[in-house]
Amino acid sequence: MDCLFCKIIAGAIPSTKVYEDEFVYAFKDINPIAPVHILFIPKTHISGASAVTAENAEVVGKIFTAIAKVAAELKLESGFRVVTNCGEDAGQTVPHLHFHLLAGKPMGWSAESGV
Ligand code: 5GP
Ligand code: ZN
Repeated sequence: MDCLFCKIIAGAIPSTKVYEDEFVYAFKDINPIAPVHILFIPKTHISGASAVTAENAEVVGKIFTAIAKVAAELKLESGFRVVTNCGEDAGQTVPHLHFHLLAGKPMGWSAESGV
């Protein structure tokens, strides 16, 4: 399949691995927007949050379990943010479900800033 993140999982495109188990792969974002910026992806291809179903949703819990584990390992005690962009308005650029783990600086959240 012609999917960037499927190629990263397969090792066809190099990445800096942070975490891996049977279901989940996590790696450093190539263009970080925070001191900690890690992408968590399912090893099975799901195109995005809008393609999560009762049949494939289990991996989402596994991803959040992995996020909690990595956040503890990295001692992100002052907080972190998890984001998934879905579709054009949200700015999704890679059509393989992924969760951004962002941390290491205070982050804004307001109507004025538009998030
Ligand atoms: P999106 O914009 O779809 O929510 O997030 C896609 C993310 O993937 C972006 O933050 C972008 O920097 C990251 N990205 C795109 N191509 C690569 C790549 O080849 N390697 C890595 N490590 N990150 C990538
Ligand atoms: Zn994929």
